Amino acid sequence: MGARILDGKRMAADLRAEIAAAVAAMKAATGRVPGLAVVLVGDDPASRSYVAGKGKACAAAGIYSREIDLPASARRDEILATVRALNADDAIDGILVQLPLPDPSIERDVVEAIDPAKDVDGFHPTNVGRMVQGLPAFVPCTPVGVVEILRRAGVALAGASVVVIGRSQLVGRPLSILLSQKGVDATVTLCHTRTKDLARFTRGADVVVVAAGRPRTLTADMVKPGAVVIDVGVNRVPDAAKAAGHRLVGDVDFDAVAAIASAITPVPGGVGPMTIAMLLKNTLEAARRRRGAGA
Ligand code: NAP
Repeated sequence: MGARILDGKRMAADLRAEIAAAVAAMKAATGRVPGLAVVLVGDDPASRSYVAGKGKACAAAGIYSREIDLPASARRDEILATVRALNADDAIDGILVQLPLPDPSIERDVVEAIDPAKDVDGFHPTNVGRMVQGLPAFVPCTPVGVVEILRRAGVALAGASVVVIGRSQLVGRPLSILLSQKGVDATVTLCHTRTKDLARFTRGADVVVVAAGRPRTLTADMVKPGAVVIDVGVNRVPDAAKAAGHRLVGDVDFDAVAAIASAITPVPGGVGPMTIAMLLKNTLEAARRRRGAGA
């Protein structure tokens, strides 16, 4: 295996330590700490585990967190009323509604009900629009986490050719915008299921980011020797050797690609930990903006 393993867990731990120090300084200066509210509707086990992880990460960084559990039967009006109460709650700087909701048809309304100043997930159209215009905005945690990994790994992005596989609102599309912004200056190609001959694009790329949600979307024959590979995918595949009966893999054929890439993120332990660290960073930033520069 030739590639340097980009240890997202280690990088996230460093960033979390920086955030914890900033939170402690805020507490010393103002007597207050940032506050994050996480709204969980229903009892999906994966969502519950993500929410628990976020609560634990907040506690470790000294950030106040509050979990609001609503039943799967909660109606649109009840969820919107919960969000509006959090908008008005001065102890809360950041609001996150765990998606998907049991009724996905109301997700848009719920996201748009969040005060953009507390939208630490960066899904509100105001924040999306500001990001596209290059203005200060909350940016979704996974794409900004990918940029942070590349930055901490010292990957030169200016003038680099980057291929992003996947165009979701959550990951691929915002990432393509961040990477092509002035100051980052990558040349970005955004690929999806209708892309003809995906390998033609990936073989020419200095950096490939895969966010497709399908194992082995990127195989070794699709990668230029020396390229940097970031694997966002999280997929459960059956594995009789594991107590749970499954294991997690990314979207990249890891061992074969690691043999020819210059650097690669593992799954787990790559992009996932950085996503949570970015949520803490956005929450700290929300508190600073809401409470003034002295905070
Ligand atoms: P999504 O909404 O399902 O979008 C997947 C995107 O990939 C779509 O744009 C799709 O194209 C494209 N795609 C799928 N198969 C492809 C293929 N064979 N070739 C080219 N493009 C392909 O998924 P998502 O929310 O962006 O998430 C992507 C993956 O990242 C998932 O595994 C998810 O679990 C993971 N994820 C991880 C984190 C983390 O913190 N580590 C956070 C978020 C998501 P079309 O638009 O044409 O359908």
